[in-house]
Amino acid sequence: MQKPAATRHASPRAIFDEHESAVRTYCRKFPAVFSRALGHRIWDEEGREYIDFLSGAGALNYGHNHPVIKRQVIEYLEQDGITHSMDMHTQAKRDFMQALVDVILKPRKLDYRIQFTGPTGSNAVEGALKIVRKVTGRASVIAFTNGFHGMSLGALAATGTAMKRAGAGLPLAHVTRMPFDGYFGEGRDTLEYVEALLDDPGSGVELPAAFILETVQGEGGVIAASTGWLQRLQALARRKGILLIVDDIQAGCGRTGTFFSFEEAGLSPDVVTLSKSIGGMGLPMALVLVKRELDVQQPGEHSGTFRGNNLAFVAARAALSFWADPLFEKELQLRCALVDERLRGIARQEGAKGCTPRGRGLLRGLTWADPGVAGRVSQAAFQRGLIAETSGAHGHVLKVMPPLTIDVEALQKGLDLLADAIQAAHATV
Ligand SMILES: *Cc1c(COP(=O)(O)O)cnc(C)c1O
Repeated sequence: MQKPAATRHASPRAIFDEHESAVRTYCRKFPAVFSRALGHRIWDEEGREYIDFLSGAGALNYGHNHPVIKRQVIEYLEQDGITHSMDMHTQAKRDFMQALVDVILKPRKLDYRIQFTGPTGSNAVEGALKIVRKVTGRASVIAFTNGFHGMSLGALAATGTAMKRAGAGLPLAHVTRMPFDGYFGEGRDTLEYVEALLDDPGSGVELPAAFILETVQGEGGVIAASTGWLQRLQALARRKGILLIVDDIQAGCGRTGTFFSFEEAGLSPDVVTLSKSIGGMGLPMALVLVKRELDVQQPGEHSGTFRGNNLAFVAARAALSFWADPLFEKELQLRCALVDERLRGIARQEGAKGCTPRGRGLLRGLTWADPGVAGRVSQAAFQRGLIAETSGAHGHVLKVMPPLTIDVEALQKGLDLLADAIQAAHATV
């Protein structure tokens, strides 16, 4: 790699330490200066190689700089393709929409209008909340314990974590919190509670516009709802005239082993939010998929300057083309099975440490009886050349999110490093 003749600082991190806002987070846990990345590998400027099990928190499902995606993006730029277009028609946008309809929606018998929002997940969630409120004329929505839906005020109101909520500095309103699947432990059915409150005019819980949920909670601690719970939630929604928003920003785009995270449960959500990996190679894009009859907003009622990131459209279309080949999903499910087997094996070996695997597909995690273990494992893994973050309100879950396209050998190697890091983490206390 050619190194630019940049100003030399006393420390290679001095500019960040002295001038970057204190709000920065990931760089504190993984304090290298990264320079290149390809597939599941990422290098720092010292030339140290890491296996990436963070995958941009789900924004890099196809790995870094996937050659097929990258080639399309380079060619598009070389032809002076449009990069920014507000929400005007472009060829790149048309091609992306056609691919989404033909490769993803039609084969799954889903008929959605596609709303382009500003390019963050939070903005898609804001858009989704506006839709359900406008359609129903109701202000409140029901969100779940440990849900994460973004950091702007509307989305933050639906987010669970106290620390993140406190950042708002004002009351976060119009969201009623209900217990997610498993919240009270095994054998206690949280939906029975939700249903009882909604059916009882004395409960004080008003009829909401919608339920908003992740089928596997990513930031909240890799908590997967069971298929049965999801199906019963949808049935409850239909019975009460409550709309269903699945926030598939992290769990979607193949992360759980199918394109949408709700395919296994056979749900038909009224509204779906997508972002993170829809842009193919980490390029920002966000979408709201909305059932045709609910697409009731006036032109411009939800808007945004960066709804036309054409480089993301080009990358997204290239990524969606992978899904046209049924082998892609088969290969993906092999990797899901492999990770499942290894995580169960690790948990068994942990014995009295009370280690439990969590999640579904390649949105997985490990948690221990001692909530401090996950953080120590993440640090030990980083020292060994594996990047894996923690999640959950106490940072008590080690998140395992390899790229969907990682080769099996590298996947095994990453999991070996993880097993090694766990032993090392126990040895440090
Ligand atoms: C990451 C995420 C968001 C927010 O996306 P941003 O791009 O960070 O605004 C919303 N919902 C879920 C489920 C997420 O994982």
